[in-house]
Amino acid sequence: MSWEEHVRRVDPYIPGEQPKDKDIIKLNTNECPYPPSPAVLEAQKAYPYEAGRLYPDTEATELAESIAGFYHVPADQIFVGVGSDDVLSLAFLTLFNGGGEVLFPDITYSFYDVWASLYRIPYRQIPVDDDFRIHARDYYDAPGGVIIANPNAPTGVLESVDFVEDIVKHNPGTVVIVDEAYIDFGGTSALPLIDRYENLLVVQTCSKSRSLAGMRIGFAFGSKNIIRYLKDARFASNSYPMNGMQISLGAASFRDAAYFHEICGRVVQTRERSKEALRGLGFSFPDSKTNFIFAKHERLTGREIYEQLRNRRIYVRHWQKPRIEDHLRITIGTDDQMDTLFSALREIVETTA
Ligand SMILES: *Cc1c(COP(=O)(O)O)cnc(C)c1O
Repeated sequence: MSWEEHVRRVDPYIPGEQPKDKDIIKLNTNECPYPPSPAVLEAQKAYPYEAGRLYPDTEATELAESIAGFYHVPADQIFVGVGSDDVLSLAFLTLFNGGGEVLFPDITYSFYDVWASLYRIPYRQIPVDDDFRIHARDYYDAPGGVIIANPNAPTGVLESVDFVEDIVKHNPGTVVIVDEAYIDFGGTSALPLIDRYENLLVVQTCSKSRSLAGMRIGFAFGSKNIIRYLKDARFASNSYPMNGMQISLGAASFRDAAYFHEICGRVVQTRERSKEALRGLGFSFPDSKTNFIFAKHERLTGREIYEQLRNRRIYVRHWQKPRIEDHLRITIGTDDQMDTLFSALREIVETTA
């Protein structure tokens, strides 16, 4: 008998690369190309050196209240965590505990099956259709719960609030999680539904639309009960998940609504322009309501373009996986970065047989 037989083994999630080199045009992990709000910088400057001596506020009250103020939701219907990955992971552990299969699409955030495997939660992946659309009916009466990303990643496809409600309404006996990591780039949040459905959890993040991927701040909205279950599980494993810097800088970000709307607007503008440019180069893609475009070329393989871009020091995301191996997920950068990308793609398309 070996000690290794007692180990909980799991194949980890593989995140996009974070190159050391600063001059790489990095369009591979959906970060925002603009800096965080100037209010965040002010909060950082004002952050007291001696604050590190004491334990932080277990409830991250300042952050939760700042989020509450921005979204007009009571603070006891908000849960915060170390990035939405942390929130989602804990939600899997806590809310998908019934033993039945949890349903999610075959093409979606590739962390879902990893969490399910880690916690030994049975799951079934339902194929999206050829246009990468999800069908609500496939998710009715899910045996163990449902998780969907809306807009979906890496496809960029957005579904309506009615669509989300249709799924929630048909799962009164299990929890439905909606991962809204990209909702701020043109979608409508399912947030108002938490008043009517106790079994709904809406998860968002500061990583994409608030330019704070490095700070690791995620949050979720739900009924008082669902939030309480999450907090109980959290405080059963870690009393101080959020540090003082996350709490203070995160709170500052939510207080600056004007900046948030401005940078989301800029990303959306560049995205719309990028759609035109990519079409002109022979790419097609599902219509994106996110800060990335999931594009496939009419002639060249995904691998070919990915490698040639990489040689030109432009990183995009590519998966060698069935159904999506010829797609590239291209994060929307600044206008200048996108122009460099389009010139590189033009060269690649013109010179590759
Ligand atoms: C980026 C992303 C997340 C996680 O973001 P955090 O940085 O952990 O907040 C969650 N879900 C989807 C679909 C994402 O793309």
